[in-house]
Amino acid sequence: MKKVGWLLSVVFLVFALVGCSGNTSGDGKDGGKSQTVGLAMPTKSSERWVKDGDNMKKEFEALGYKVDLQYAEDVVENQVSQIENMITKGVDILVIASIDGEALTDVLEKAKNQDIPVIAYDRLIMNSDHVSYYATFDNFQVGVLQGKYIEEKLGLEDEDGPFHIELFAGSPDDNNAYFFWDGAMSILQPYIDEGKLVVKSGQMSFEQGATLRWDGAKAQERMDNLLSAHYSDEKIDVVYSPFDGISRGVISSLKAVGYGTGNNPMPIVTGQDAELSSIKSIIAGEQTQTIFKDTRDLAKKAVNMADSVLKGEEPDVNDTETYDNGERVVPSYLIEPVSVDIDDYKEKLVDTGYFTEEELQ
Ligand code: BGC
Repeated sequence: MKKVGWLLSVVFLVFALVGCSGNTSGDGKDGGKSQTVGLAMPTKSSERWVKDGDNMKKEFEALGYKVDLQYAEDVVENQVSQIENMITKGVDILVIASIDGEALTDVLEKAKNQDIPVIAYDRLIMNSDHVSYYATFDNFQVGVLQGKYIEEKLGLEDEDGPFHIELFAGSPDDNNAYFFWDGAMSILQPYIDEGKLVVKSGQMSFEQGATLRWDGAKAQERMDNLLSAHYSDEKIDVVYSPFDGISRGVISSLKAVGYGTGNNPMPIVTGQDAELSSIKSIIAGEQTQTIFKDTRDLAKKAVNMADSVLKGEEPDVNDTETYDNGERVVPSYLIEPVSVDIDDYKEKLVDTGYFTEEELQ
């Protein structure tokens, strides 16, 4: 009996030690084996966010993290309660692409009280001192590329015009929308002032062009109104659109009144995100241009940031001045966006493996 008791003690001790070392590896200091990342994404209705979520999940899992990935279908209250749940469940870090950048102040206070760091993904979260880092693209440059495309396509430096343009802006609750607009206007405004570009509707402010929640149906409705009120006798030459979903709404409206047929060509229509249906639209000669933001690179960046924060290291940033969220200037990493059109989509999207030729058929 004594011998059995002794043996049992040894066995117990071995288990205790193994269990203990198991615990050590479970405290997250080993590359995050047992740590969980809460990923809050805005909506599945736009393809880019689906890719963002999938790419991040894959990258985090490859590093050994568990992932709680949630989409809120563009309903702010859904996103707030999803984040609240993640905090209650005790996630170790939050990565958030907000719907309304100004609606998360309170829930982020809860994260702060639980010491859960927060990384803003693509869209800056406003009015909170608890946004640790921001991973995004150079959003002003997105607008500059869109504006420059219009400038070059119309030859505005040499041509007198006048060319008719209408302007769409993104969602007023998304900080990025102002950056896109300001970037585009930094190129277009001088031509408007000179009279080479004419906005027949007179709707030239961000507020007049804004599209709540980036909703393509709303953009289509506004375009219908613009066309019937201002373009029954004259043609429109350009539509500045900041996002592929808005561009698709605009294009439906243009097609409904006969653009894109015979001697009534489509105006120049810009876009953003290189969404599959918009690349097909470019190939079909409807949309003219888009901005490619490689979500694989952004996902990697955000995952590395989160991994560094969890390991107590300093993440890689390249901008510490631009993104003031009202409480602090959030250290950011900005990736360069790329303009794409019919002439270079193969090189930029197919050769890089973003889409296959088959997907574009
Ligand atoms: C993103 C864009 C996107 C838009 C609509 C912005 O915050 O930066 O890439 O087109 O939201 O989803």
